[in-house]
Amino acid sequence: QLIYLNGEFVCKENAKISVYDHGFLYGDGIFEGIRAYNGNIFRLEEHIERLYESALSILLQIPHTPAEMCQLVVETVRRNNLRDAYIRLVVSRGTGNLGLDPRSCPTPSVIIIAEQLSLFPRELYETGLRIITVPTRRNTPDALNPKIKSLNYLNNILVRMEAAQAGVSEALMLNREGYVAEGSGDNVFLVKKGILYTPPAYIGALQGITRQVIIEIAQQLGYVVKEEPFTRHDVYVADEVFLTGTAAEVISVIEVDGRRIKDGKPGQVTGQLLQEFRQRVEKEGVT
Ligand code: PLP
Repeated sequence: QLIYLNGEFVCKENAKISVYDHGFLYGDGIFEGIRAYNGNIFRLEEHIERLYESALSILLQIPHTPAEMCQLVVETVRRNNLRDAYIRLVVSRGTGNLGLDPRSCPTPSVIIIAEQLSLFPRELYETGLRIITVPTRRNTPDALNPKIKSLNYLNNILVRMEAAQAGVSEALMLNREGYVAEGSGDNVFLVKKGILYTPPAYIGALQGITRQVIIEIAQQLGYVVKEEPFTRHDVYVADEVFLTGTAAEVISVIEVDGRRIKDGKPGQVTGQLLQEFRQRVEKEGVT
């Protein structure tokens, strides 16, 4: 396996960065998770655009143009002979001195890892997920804006641990007002009376690229999609609940906080969206 690391491709064993990298010392950096299907990199430009927006927001100057960055991602997948891959792109502030001052870091570190990954076992896409809501709250845009895909994922990791302790594999975070924000690494949708609902980003969610793709697909299929705040009550009484994300793709949720959603089986709208999503990812993308 070859990893892109600061201008060269190195094998996994040699892919190492300094303990003085501010990404490690302070979580000072940003990242993207991208996916390749059947040799095509899905929505690469959108991921790169989000990366550069995250960078701009934290005043981090990426030492490549967006076009060069796209090329580097394509090259990493190619060198690893992968057709289906999960790609992790990380840009950290780089190596500097102890102390928060990013001016001691002259050059950002750029890392691209491409490998095979499946977040949930295949059968869970047929049976659906059991999830919970957790005490950890999503930070709202007045703090570190959740739109920035930063290396500060401790909240999200706590969510995963809280989920694991409850014997489930994913969970929903609420924001400080009690509105449902998102999962630890995915966005959430409800279906109620044939209408789709997903929290607006200002509630405290990442503007997911899969979320956007699902909004587009649903609208093309004739569904109304509303970006509206909702609470746990709305989740419990929904007809269908599902999660979206680059790693999770589109996955049905059949139980939340021990309560069955409707009849406890993956819903028909979710199934239709998943099928359409799978067809698109096979065809679309940068080769
Ligand atoms: N929410 C969070 C916190 C995430 O980390 C991710 C993963 O990237 C998502 C949502 C889903 O976003 P996307 O569909 O762009 O992968």
